[in-house]
Amino acid sequence: MFYMIFLLEYIWIDGFGNLRSKTKVHQMKELDKSSNVNLLPEWNYDGSSTGQATGDDSEVIIRPVAFYEDPFRGENNFLVLCDTWLPNGEPHPTNTRASAVEVFKLNAQHDPMYGIEQEFFIVKDGKPIGFPGTNFPRPQQDYYCGVGGDNVVGREFIEEAFQNCLKAGLSLTGLNAEVAPSQWEFQVCDMGIKAADQLYMMRYILDRTAEKYGWSVNYHPKPVMGDWNGSGCHTNFSTKAMRAKGGYPVILDAIKKLGHRHMQHMENYGKDNHLRMSGKHETARYDHFSYGVADRGSSIRIPRTTERDECGYFEDRRPASNMDPYVVTSMILDTVTSEHE
Ligand code: MN
Ligand code: MN
Ligand code: MN
Repeated sequence: MFYMIFLLEYIWIDGFGNLRSKTKVHQMKELDKSSNVNLLPEWNYDGSSTGQATGDDSEVIIRPVAFYEDPFRGENNFLVLCDTWLPNGEPHPTNTRASAVEVFKLNAQHDPMYGIEQEFFIVKDGKPIGFPGTNFPRPQQDYYCGVGGDNVVGREFIEEAFQNCLKAGLSLTGLNAEVAPSQWEFQVCDMGIKAADQLYMMRYILDRTAEKYGWSVNYHPKPVMGDWNGSGCHTNFSTKAMRAKGGYPVILDAIKKLGHRHMQHMENYGKDNHLRMSGKHETARYDHFSYGVADRGSSIRIPRTTERDECGYFEDRRPASNMDPYVVTSMILDTVTSEHE
């Protein structure tokens, strides 16, 4: 059998929570989306250029953990998500995936499912593209799920990024224009650690697609101060028991446990999240835990359908748009499966 050449884009998370990537030209007999990720070799990079090492001991090892079809290069090329390791075989201190994997292994019997809503702004030179010149656009009202050139900006890019995510094989479940001009939301859903892997790959594809337009995607939770919505990353969650008949008490019990650890969660739900969680703009207050049915001003929202069916899921509305999905998804699972304190 002949060897084939594959272009593998190795992607990892740097010391600041941003994504980096570089290309490996790799010869293999075969590789398709059903292949085992363990067939892909380890690699390394200069950690002194990514805020993850000193110059005299600069090597960080990257290990492939998931791979997706490459929508940019097309057939027979792949986007390879990696996590980061020290030469001594321990996870790099910035590798939050390794400990998340432990939580998911311990709680595999709960079959945790996540639907994550990533909000973000499209920016040019750090400024939202819907804020032209020195003027502010007219106040928020018409932009959310808006239609028409006066109400939405960047749709062509958004559509292309969304299609790229689908081509990569990500299980996106929807998108919408958001409350502030040039703010959008992509949604992704999966089980266990795969949800967080997909979220990072979705961010990567958004970032890469934006390059073509000369734009960037901004994940800061409050990029524009004042009377403009911030960006969140609502995390919808359920376990097998919550989804099954009679799941409602399990959901209420989980919410009670989340309440007990509220501040611990807030400290891990994304930097600068206190700027967003003001109690205004469809957020709860940063320092106060609350929950309610259909209440978009509370920390946790129980959907009407969950109340009606007496089973289903709940929505943790606290995570910021710049949250680390490995931290957030594993922390929710760890808290709701913990013994009562
Ligand atoms: Mn949403
Ligand atoms: Mn939203
Ligand atoms: Mn939501």
